[in-house]
Amino acid sequence: MKQIKLMCDAVCKSLRGKGTSRHRAFLRSTCAAAIRFLAFFLLFWGCSLLRASHPKAEERSRTAISKNATATGPFGEIVRGPRDKSEIALTFDAGADAECFEDLITALADAHVHSTFFVTGKFAQQHRDCAAEITKRAHEVGNHTWNHLNLTQQPDDIVREEITRAEIILNNSCGQDPKPRWRAPYGERDERVLKIATNLGYRSIYWTLDSLDGVEPVKTPQFLIDRVTGKSDAELDGAIILMHVGVRSTTEALPAIIADLQGRGFRLVTISKLLEAQKSVR
Ligand SMILES: [Zn+2]
Repeated sequence: MKQIKLMCDAVCKSLRGKGTSRHRAFLRSTCAAAIRFLAFFLLFWGCSLLRASHPKAEERSRTAISKNATATGPFGEIVRGPRDKSEIALTFDAGADAECFEDLITALADAHVHSTFFVTGKFAQQHRDCAAEITKRAHEVGNHTWNHLNLTQQPDDIVREEITRAEIILNNSCGQDPKPRWRAPYGERDERVLKIATNLGYRSIYWTLDSLDGVEPVKTPQFLIDRVTGKSDAELDGAIILMHVGVRSTTEALPAIIADLQGRGFRLVTISKLLEAQKSVR
């Protein structure tokens, strides 16, 4: 606002001496209004540009679901399993928080469900018991990188280090090799990142359906139940569903989600089991 006044004064100064004082006052107010309008226009225009270039997480998720019409993307990325096996893979990303991990793993055990956990190196380092428990309960582990960075914004050597460093600790703390399964943090990947992962022996496992349990605002258990069980059998057959470790509403929603899916005749399996027919993933 201060700049607007300064600009206005400068224009008015150049008009000084011309016309009557009433005329000058009219010119000054017209000039101020025009500059203010221009400033607001530029502000809104700038904001709308920013919004367009930085889609919110939720918007990204929606895009992700709609483009899952094909099973594989560049470099053999997996976005869903075969549609004719009545199998679904519940997958859990473990990035930081281990809150209510015990309840989550118990809910899976109670329903005899085996899942795939995409674990970061940091999670495995900070929660060694949880990392070991995943294997003890016959679940499968995938590589979720060391530090959960947006890899598309990292140079090649950091991308490689993020993946290989996590691989070492996951082998040690989980007691199983995550290879060839890996999932990009935030689902943020591009051809360069996928190529690097492929060269390290990995295959990106994306998802068919995001439960949105990792997207602000925090979801209620009922939201998550409706979000998953509200999908048709055709949509769910072969689906890879994204959920998270450390989210209380996910843990609370899990028994109802599992009961609904199993009640509809689906087997809930690991990524390896889901993709068994596709020999190349092993
Ligand atoms: Zn993650």
